[in-house]
Amino acid sequence: MKPHTRRFALPLNFYLYVLVALLVLLLVVFGLFTLNEVENTAKRLEELERSLAEEEFSLALEQTMSRVESLADELAHWDEVHQQLQNPTYYTYWKMHRLHKQGTLPEFVLDAGLYDHQGNPLANNGKQELLPSHVPLVPNPQVRRDGRHLLLTYEKIIHTDGVSGSLVLVVELMQAIRATFAFSRVDLAAVDMERVPEQPVTPQELHRWIEVQPRNTMVQKEFMTTVQHAVLRLIGGIIFAGLALLLFFSFLIRKPLVRIRQYLNHLRQGEPASSKLLKYQPVAELEEIRSSLQEYHAQLENARQDLDERNRTLWELAHKDPLTGTWNRRAFERDWKNLRSLLEGKRMEIAFLLFDCDHFKAINDSYGHEVGDEVIRVTARRIQQMLRSGDRLYRLGGDEFATIVIECSRHCAEKLAERCLQAMREEDFSRLGIHEPVNLSIGIALARADDLPDLSELKRRADMAMYHAKRPGTRRICIHEPGMDADRGMLYSSQAIHAVQQAIRHGQGIEMHYQPIVDLEGDQVAYLEALVRLRDEEGLFMPAQFFPIVEAHRLEEEFDLAILQALKQEMKSGVIPGHTGLSLNLSANGLLSGRVMELLEELAYHAQNRPLLLEITENTLITRLGDATRQIELARRMGYDVALDDFGSGYSSLRYLASMPVEIIKFDISMTQRIVAGGREREMIQGIVRMIRQAGYRTVAEGIEDEVALSLVRQSGFTHAQGYLFGHPARPQPQSAQETRNSLSGSA
Ligand code: C2E
Ligand code: MG
Ligand code: MG
Repeated sequence: MKPHTRRFALPLNFYLYVLVALLVLLLVVFGLFTLNEVENTAKRLEELERSLAEEEFSLALEQTMSRVESLADELAHWDEVHQQLQNPTYYTYWKMHRLHKQGTLPEFVLDAGLYDHQGNPLANNGKQELLPSHVPLVPNPQVRRDGRHLLLTYEKIIHTDGVSGSLVLVVELMQAIRATFAFSRVDLAAVDMERVPEQPVTPQELHRWIEVQPRNTMVQKEFMTTVQHAVLRLIGGIIFAGLALLLFFSFLIRKPLVRIRQYLNHLRQGEPASSKLLKYQPVAELEEIRSSLQEYHAQLENARQDLDERNRTLWELAHKDPLTGTWNRRAFERDWKNLRSLLEGKRMEIAFLLFDCDHFKAINDSYGHEVGDEVIRVTARRIQQMLRSGDRLYRLGGDEFATIVIECSRHCAEKLAERCLQAMREEDFSRLGIHEPVNLSIGIALARADDLPDLSELKRRADMAMYHAKRPGTRRICIHEPGMDADRGMLYSSQAIHAVQQAIRHGQGIEMHYQPIVDLEGDQVAYLEALVRLRDEEGLFMPAQFFPIVEAHRLEEEFDLAILQALKQEMKSGVIPGHTGLSLNLSANGLLSGRVMELLEELAYHAQNRPLLLEITENTLITRLGDATRQIELARRMGYDVALDDFGSGYSSLRYLASMPVEIIKFDISMTQRIVAGGREREMIQGIVRMIRQAGYRTVAEGIEDEVALSLVRQSGFTHAQGYLFGHPARPQPQSAQETRNSLSGSA
């Protein structure tokens, strides 16, 4: 899968903050712009107001001026004015009582006076300080400031009947304006006249100094301030709303997303993800994501459980033996490795026990695989029951089991092995149709944890012990001793293995030796027993050296075939002397093999009239009685007699003997030794021999090495004898039969 690359990305918060910052910036810019606009508008409005006010003020001034003019015109047409100009004698009186009489002059006219044609006042005008001392006025009319008042001085020239003169009015201008004009725009009270010069100016020039204040400027200002505040509040409100939106957004989207991320992180790290992280979401899309995620998680969880289950099953399949449910060889090797590292440097003893079912192959072949499987299952169960709860039993193959017991001394290992044997003895195999006892052999290798050998070495030691345990006459439990290693070379010699392979594949190296079996009644060689040896460049291998290999590799059938082929050749080439009988040894598997039977038939054909004997061991016959009997019948029809070999080395049960389809019983060398040893055993064996003879069997005593033994077996009633006394197994000599006869007659 393409490796996951993480691209650069910024957190959601960053985008939110940027959004808010942009929003604030936008609002600030918009706010400033709006405020500026408001200010400009306010200014424009103020200017407009001001110009309108100025216009109004100019209009008021104009109207006031016209009013003053018309007042002056009116006075100029007044006949009393004409009379005064012509005769000013009572001028002062007239001015006081007629001109300033209540109602003649409006209030805003502060003073009025008449001047003669030379421009001098007609008389002392009273309030002389307001009226000019001389006319004509320049300019006319004129305005000047007197303290806080604006005084308008207006001159009207009057012509009457050859007399001319001037009328001058002094008017309080602001009062006159107020009396003449109703202002709508101008705030007259706020008109500042301080800047108007004290020197006379024309009314038209007044606007240069008079600053007119529009009446409603304050309202406007107030309005504008309100607008500004409103804009500021709006911006504040929007910013607040933005922040609230941010919080809301964060609560609604960011938080759930962060939770989902945490949830996924937990999942990714294989930690248990709390379901609290995936709560119901009010946002539809998030809720969809949440439920899909949960669904997906549930599916993943199912898949994981399924996978775990499959893994467990696979693991068990890989590490457990399907037949017995015990652990298999793979588990054995893995556990051993773990154990090694666990025990490293510890001072404790461990015991390696190897279990093997005796004659299992025979049971399997005789009673069928189903029974064989059941025997294996029962064996496994029985052994397992005897182990401590934590100790594992491994099936290494076939009927071979092993266990490793920690902190187990020699004594403990022996006890355990005995318990296993006892458990097997207690098992009732007759329910499976097996009437012979099914026994275990147990090989034990002991080791110290701080000096552990390799597994293969430990197994080899246990194998060696097993080999010893399986030897006839032993107690079926054997603990490996260093002395056994001498046999090891023998057992596992690669040369011997090579020799076996050569014999089986190419028929090479097989060397048949023959040992006479003597008929004690006729004192003649009844049979020559064919005993195989294997020869290579180094020398001869004896049966004890290579048969364990043949058996360990389950090559009995092939090996028997090779021997029979060799015998056939010897028979054809006339190596075997005269018409002496020939005795052949057959393995259990050989007896049951069709191919071996075919070869036996060929051999019988080549033997012509020579008596033929098949030696079959007691164990073979017991464990495969049914099949063996059929095969023996077949062999008998071919002309073979059948001998039970090594009687007394195994079951030695007379009960079985009666059911065995044989003519000859060959007593094992150990029986001969017991006869020679004397005592009750001799009597017992002699009794058995008598019984067997009476039952019609012929009997052979094996291992006759001296005259004493010979005379004792004669006394005991044996019909035949075999042993070094008559001859060692050897290659046949042309005269060997004659010599044998001579030696027999000598010994007799
Ligand atoms: P077995 O059939 O019981 O053969 C007799 C064994 O006793 C032979 O050992 C023989 O050398 C030995 N023997 C004979 N006389 C004496 C004696 O006076 N004293 C002592 N101590 N031993 C004596 P060998 O040749 O080593 O054979 C051992 C076993 O190997 C045989 O026991 C037989 O079971 C098996 N065997 C030998 N040749 C063959 C064969 O061609 N085919 C098969 N299937 N088994 C064979
Ligand atoms: Mg034999
Ligand atoms: Mg024998």
